[in-house]
Amino acid sequence: MGLIVQKYGGTSVGSVERIQAVAQRVRCAVEDGHSIVVVVSAMGKTTDQLVGLANQVSSQPSRREMDMLLSTGEQVSIALLSMALQEQGQPAISMTGAQVGILTETAHTRARILNINTERLQRHLRDGKVVVVAGFQGIARTHDLEITTLGRGGSDTSAVALAAALKADACEIYTDVPGILTTDPRLVPEAQLMSEITADEMLELASLGAKVLHPRAVEIARNYGVMLVVRSSWTDDPGTKVLSPVPQPRSLDGLEIAQPVDAVELDAYQAKVALLRVPDCPGIAARLFGEIATQQLDVDLIIQSIHEGNTNDIAFTVNRNSRDRAESVAEAIAPTLRQTPSNLEEAEVLVKRQTAKISIVGAGMIGHPGVAAQMFSALADAGVNIQMISTSEVKVSCAIATEDCDRAVEALCTQFQICSSPLSPSSNITSTNPATVRSQITHAEQDAPSELAHMNSADLSPPVRGAALDLKQARLAIRHVPDRPGMAAHIFQTLADHHISVDTIIQSQRCRLVNGIATRDIAFTVTQADAESAQSVLQAIAPELQCGEILVDTAIAKVSIVGTGMVGRPGVAAQMFKALAQADINIQMITTSEIKISCVVSETDGAAAVQAVHAVFELASPQKMQVLA
Ligand code: ADP
Ligand code: ASP
Ligand code: MG
Repeated sequence: MGLIVQKYGGTSVGSVERIQAVAQRVRCAVEDGHSIVVVVSAMGKTTDQLVGLANQVSSQPSRREMDMLLSTGEQVSIALLSMALQEQGQPAISMTGAQVGILTETAHTRARILNINTERLQRHLRDGKVVVVAGFQGIARTHDLEITTLGRGGSDTSAVALAAALKADACEIYTDVPGILTTDPRLVPEAQLMSEITADEMLELASLGAKVLHPRAVEIARNYGVMLVVRSSWTDDPGTKVLSPVPQPRSLDGLEIAQPVDAVELDAYQAKVALLRVPDCPGIAARLFGEIATQQLDVDLIIQSIHEGNTNDIAFTVNRNSRDRAESVAEAIAPTLRQTPSNLEEAEVLVKRQTAKISIVGAGMIGHPGVAAQMFSALADAGVNIQMISTSEVKVSCAIATEDCDRAVEALCTQFQICSSPLSPSSNITSTNPATVRSQITHAEQDAPSELAHMNSADLSPPVRGAALDLKQARLAIRHVPDRPGMAAHIFQTLADHHISVDTIIQSQRCRLVNGIATRDIAFTVTQADAESAQSVLQAIAPELQCGEILVDTAIAKVSIVGTGMVGRPGVAAQMFKALAQADINIQMITTSEIKISCVVSETDGAAAVQAVHAVFELASPQKMQVLA
């Protein structure tokens, strides 16, 4: 006997018959002795239709009125489901987000949840009722009691947030697929169901385009330790469990906004190898990383920014112990990359023998546009120049000079209120704070991203668990940004001030002299809907930045692979790049984190790209081993 929050998506409540079937399922759960809170989406494609209506009336509908309009969709389904339950003899009551007390920020169409007053809801539960709650909506914590929505797909977030606030025993997300699959079955019909996935992996997949869960829902589940399951609305099969680590106690206050960063990590023992001016054509990354994999070298970050003319720069970092071997591989391959007619100049190898990587980590960065900017500002204020940037959904990493490490750690710990004990150069991991924070410091040789230490985890899980495709992104590139502290901070703070969420950020390796000033390109992706405004916002500050052109490409696709098993396992990137090369797909940008590799390709190559990587990692075969919790 327990309290369960069940959430049913649009397709699952898409008709009267389906609503009746949902009522039946809910009633069965009550008969099994559970208290049930149900969260529902709008019926079928209702939300899309309402958006269509708004667009017919206005070319730029106000965000407030959009919330007023879209929130009606869920109100229809809660009333109908409640009636269907009552018809089946089950006492039930419907409640809007406002009636429940789902308090949000005022930011219309993208509000984050601040708190939930569960008193009223709990009273109805105690009276033996099923409470049917409208997903996707809340009420702003202001005097005006504004109706807000959480962003498309946000009913998952309503459900998990309610489960966290109610300390429910489980949150079950019922949908039109059997659970979380290795990729979208609409793209790859042979995609396989996973019985379990870690919250970290799912956070990446959800943010990289796997629509089956709203990324913010996964974030809340991870932060509050909600037992989360994704299941089919049509069967009794168990579906997929999303495994969260045991969380530190956390207040419900500021539910989605408190503490976006929970750790600062430093790896002060890296080296960077860059190949400059390699041809911009399929197969180059595959050759380079294929050779690196043959040498059993484990690369950490891989970054390829936008091309310039016919050439690209590809940079990667390795543990300093592997530096010489990585350099020889790059030196050996560079002359062979000259043969294409488009690349008459020889590719050049550049090695930075000592470099450090500093990262901020935390699931709360999603939908929180200012966090990366805060990191860049804190580093700039401490006089730390950023050499490379690479981001994932839960991490922002910057390559910096080793002599800047101490100042960088101090600046970031202060900025994000993370405590750490005095750093000892010989310590491996310094984990000190009794609260929810940790500071991991990798300083000395013995802290090589221990290939051995990782062998165990690699043995247990397949290197890649899932693949995702995001077709809704656009790429912006700012050419020739002066290479000095504060530039990235200025750019990303300006975008954050305009509520533009930036996804992947890549700062290029190539440093060019423009009018005697060293410059680098910075590229990043945003949702297509934000591309135009991002461009005009940047255009407005271009004179202050003293940068070059600002380019936009909306015809891109991002294809990604995710898996905790890729940590410490050389060759995974090479395999992905090779699969794309064999499908004759050119890679425009590359960015990696420990557990994901993303490539930007042209939009027309997107579907073929995800199919190629799904096939090369044999994701269509039932996965032999499951990831351990
Ligand atoms: P709901 O209306 O129930 O919230 P959504 O349409 O938002 O459903 O999400 C379910 C859809 O997500 C599936 O129909 C599927 O096409 C898509 N999807 C994308 N990636 C995945 C994945 N890795 N596993 C399962 N489904 C996925
Ligand atoms: N109805 C909303 C949408 O379509 C919320 C949801 O379904 O999760 O985006
Ligand atoms: Mg959904």
